[in-house]
Amino acid sequence: MMKKLKTQVGIIGAGPAGLTLAHWLRKHGIHSIILENRSREYVEGRVRAGLLEQNTVDIIKDLGLADRLLKEGQEHHGVYFSFDGQRIRVPFGELTGGRNITIYGQQKVVRDLTSAWLESGGELYFEAPAVGIRDFHTDKPIIDFEYQGEQGIIECDFVAACDGFHGIGRKTLPENSYNTFTRTYPFSWLGILAHVAPSTDELIYSYHERGFALHSLRSHKISRLYIQVDNDAHIEDWPDDRIWDELAIRLGTEGWELQRGPIFEKGITPMRSFMIDRLQSGRLFLAGDAAHIVPPTGGKGLNLAIADVKHLVDGLVEFYQKNSTLGLDHYSEIALKRIWRAQDFSNFMTRLFHKQDEHGSFQYRLQKAKFDYIRMSRAYATTIAENYVGLGFEAFGLTSAI
Ligand SMILES: Cc1cc2nc3c(=O)[nH]c(=O)nc-3n(C[C@H](O)[C@H](O)[C@H](O)COP(=O)(O)OP(=O)(O)OC[C@H]3O[C@@H](n4cnc5c(N)ncnc54)[C@H](O)[C@@H]3O)c2cc1C
Repeated sequence: MMKKLKTQVGIIGAGPAGLTLAHWLRKHGIHSIILENRSREYVEGRVRAGLLEQNTVDIIKDLGLADRLLKEGQEHHGVYFSFDGQRIRVPFGELTGGRNITIYGQQKVVRDLTSAWLESGGELYFEAPAVGIRDFHTDKPIIDFEYQGEQGIIECDFVAACDGFHGIGRKTLPENSYNTFTRTYPFSWLGILAHVAPSTDELIYSYHERGFALHSLRSHKISRLYIQVDNDAHIEDWPDDRIWDELAIRLGTEGWELQRGPIFEKGITPMRSFMIDRLQSGRLFLAGDAAHIVPPTGGKGLNLAIADVKHLVDGLVEFYQKNSTLGLDHYSEIALKRIWRAQDFSNFMTRLFHKQDEHGSFQYRLQKAKFDYIRMSRAYATTIAENYVGLGFEAFGLTSAI
């Protein structure tokens, strides 16, 4: 039997973008329904980002969803940068007038937002893939989906495709309605999660002649670490001891020791930039990874997804409260300003810390010159700091919808 649902905003995808959008719309009295392709267990267990910008934390707080985040998240006021074994600290809190980052795993964000949505009676269908989006050039678009072996439709006013890089939202946009920009880097990240207390109080980004390494954190008992590997690297060639040895060398600095522990998750992620320059067609809107991917070096992916949602909420609230499409008409243009800023910063961090050419080459010397400049110039360090913690919405000439 055909399942027929009706809502104001049909949301595809229960990742950070889709869930935040649903909560935020409800705050403004706008009804939505979420469809999610995967099971709840899968989505809640998916290990991805872990660095929340100040804006993201503020939004989750304002939505009243930050109880666990405030208890378990670790606020960081600075970051360490290492180059050839020399380590410096960029005190971003001090340089940006108190803006900081919080370390809190993406899967926890997803769990918190999912539980709050379901417990308060929100509609979310798991294992319910959207298989088609149609009529989005009319004022009654339709999402076709499958659920428990049946076909269904959602009739809505707007479709928000928050369905990640592999979703159907972007594929549904008319082909000639946007331009695509891509860059694939000639290296990947091998990332691990380990049951061991972090050997650092703040993240360490490190250039080493053997390649990049990053010491990140998840909690007081769990560490997240990465090393640069070739694009054709195979995880089977990287037994745990080899990974720890490489991390110890690449992160090493005098008087500091890397603590090792059992690795319980490891995987290889390619490094790439991808984006399209129009996030809308008619009443179909894209937000988050559906429209852009950044290399993870700047910690921007999740934060960018939430920033898109802010602009989409602004536009939808304006539509429902003032019957104006002005905000929605300018959604792409407004969101793209931050997306390009994040692409630039992510590219900058990637180029600064990864080995791209022979040690001692011209490229290497440019990287080293940048590192030295961070040490000598407060202005340069501030530029990096404000991008790292994320520019406030007012920097783009915008204020919050909350
Ligand atoms: C392996 C990996 C590691 C990462 N590490 C970092 C990091 O360290 N730092 C950082 O900032 N960012 C990182 N990112 C990026 C960050 O995780 C993403 O930017 C973030 O998840 C974007 O959120 P989103 O809601 O836009 O998309 P997603 O989280 O991808 O959510 C999209 C959802 O849509 C669902 N979906 C897809 N198609 C359909 C369909 N047809 N019907 C219904 N549902 C559908 C998917 O199942 C998914 O749950 C990483 C990403 C990956 C893949």
